[in-house]
Amino acid sequence: MAMTSDETTKICSHCDRAIPSSNIDLHFAHCSRNLERCKVCGDMVPRKYAEEHFLNTHAPVACSQCSETMEREILAIHKGEKCPQRIVTCDFCEFPLPAVDLAEHQEVCGNRTELCHLCNRYIRLRERYNHESRCTGVPENTVGSSRYVCLCFTRAIVT
Ligand SMILES: [Zn+2]
Ligand SMILES: [Zn+2]
Ligand SMILES: [Zn+2]
Ligand SMILES: [Zn+2]
Ligand SMILES: [Zn+2]
Repeated sequence: MAMTSDETTKICSHCDRAIPSSNIDLHFAHCSRNLERCKVCGDMVPRKYAEEHFLNTHAPVACSQCSETMEREILAIHKGEKCPQRIVTCDFCEFPLPAVDLAEHQEVCGNRTELCHLCNRYIRLRERYNHESRCTGVPENTVGSSRYVCLCFTRAIVT
């Protein structure tokens, strides 16, 4: 069996840790003088580093991209999903740009047209995704000429 389970321990009233009874007085003297409990995370921190601990661990931090100050816990989410200065890529041209400019850029970029090689028509980039799944693959000139092929056939379907 482990040594510690045989030894009687006492709980230090300052740090709540189990301390061997033989050491408790010494420990408590040292503990109460040198350590303090962080009010935020509950960790025992050396008194002289308490401020440093707070600043390094809990103090609000500034986003390196937009310099907005926020709680440390949300910084990662902010940088990844919320920061207006985070770099995102345009859906249409895959150009990297700050999120704050994306809407305006895509407004312009999505209105550019590109030739669909399947149907030979110019498709707006913003519609291209939809178009690709619906594209008949029939070049426009063929579609046009088929209109004149057989009128009586179309009439037959209507009636
Ligand atoms: Zn203690
Ligand atoms: Zn803390
Ligand atoms: Zn930011
Ligand atoms: Zn673009
Ligand atoms: Zn097409």
